[in-house]
Amino acid sequence: MSDKKTNILLIYTGGTIGMVKDYTSGVLKAFNFNKLMKHIPELGQLDCHIDSVSFKNPIDSSTVNTKHWVSIATIIEEHYDTYDGFVVLHGSDTMSYSASALSYMLENLNKPVIFTGSQLPIGDLRTDAKENLITSIQIAALQKSGRPVIREVGLYFEYKLYRANRTTKINAEHFEAFASLNYPPLVSSGVHLKVDQEHLWRVKRVKKFIAHKKMNSQVAILKLFPGINETVLEHFLSIPNLKGLVLETYGAGNAPMDDWFLDALKKAIRSGLHIVNVTQCSGGAVIMGQYETSEQLKKLQLINGKDITTEAAITKLMYLLGSDVSPKLFKTIFETSLRGEMG
Ligand code: ASP
Repeated sequence: MSDKKTNILLIYTGGTIGMVKDYTSGVLKAFNFNKLMKHIPELGQLDCHIDSVSFKNPIDSSTVNTKHWVSIATIIEEHYDTYDGFVVLHGSDTMSYSASALSYMLENLNKPVIFTGSQLPIGDLRTDAKENLITSIQIAALQKSGRPVIREVGLYFEYKLYRANRTTKINAEHFEAFASLNYPPLVSSGVHLKVDQEHLWRVKRVKKFIAHKKMNSQVAILKLFPGINETVLEHFLSIPNLKGLVLETYGAGNAPMDDWFLDALKKAIRSGLHIVNVTQCSGGAVIMGQYETSEQLKKLQLINGKDITTEAAITKLMYLLGSDVSPKLFKTIFETSLRGEMG
C-alpha cells in the first residue's frame, strides 16, 4: 500500500451495482471484484489507493439479515487501522436499513463509511453505478489537515451524500432513489464537491472505536391503517418473544382512541414490550400530546420516535436490545440521538 495516498477499502456485498451485462446473451452476471480496475479504468485516475473485499456469496439486498451486518462490521473492524475510509457496495432495496444498522454498530467511528449502490448494473451503458462509486470513493478519501472530513456512516446516491440513518428508499425507478427528508445532505456533488460542514457528525472527544456485533431481531413493525381491528393488534402484540415494536402512526404520532386499542398497548408495555411511536409520513416528526389522539399514547409511555425514520427506528431497537440496555433506561436511551438519527 502506498504510504502517502489515502487508502480506501471497497466492501462488495452484492446488489445490482456489481453486475455486468454479457452482451452476447444479454444476461446480468455478478461481477468479479478482483477485476475492478479492468471494468472501471477511471478508478486509476483517483488520487487514492483502493483495495477491495467481497462477500463470498454476494447477495441481493432483499435477503439481507443481521448476520450480513455483522460481517460488514467485522470487515471494517479488522481493517479499521489500515484504511482511511470504507465504501460499502450494497443493493439499494434495503440499503437504508443496513446503513442505519451499521451506524449504531460502529461506535466512535472516526472515519467515513459510505454505502452506495445503483439502479442499473455497472456494465450497463446508461449506468448510474460509475458516478455513484467514483464519487463515493472521492468522498471517503476527503481529508482536511490529515483527518477524514466525513466521520460517520453516509449513503451516497445520485449526487448527494446523506447521513445514512436519515435515509429512505423512495423510488424503485428513478436514479434519485433515496431521500432524507428530515436532515440536509452532507455533501452535494456538482462541478465541485460541496460539503455542508455544519451538519457533519462531530463528537467533542474521540473515544476508542468499537464494533458491536449483537443485534436482536425479536422486533416487528406495525403500520396503522383505518379499520385495523382488535384481532390484528392482539396477534401482533402476542408474537412469542417479541421485545420491540415500531408502531407507525398517523401524522404527528396520532392513533385511534378506542379502549380496546389503548388497553392492548398498555398491557403489552406493562409486560415489557418496548413500543416506539414513529410517523408513517416520510417527513416531519411525532409530537406526542399535540392532539388528543396522541395524548393517550404519551400517558402510556410509548417511546417517542420524534423524527426518526422507520429504518433507523427498527435497527435502533435491534441494537439497543442486543446491547442489553436495562428496561428502566430503555426509553430514555432510545429517545436520545446516538448517531445523529433523530433531532
Ligand atoms: N434488488 C437489488 C438489491 O437491493 C436492487 C439494487 O441493487 O438496487 O440488491
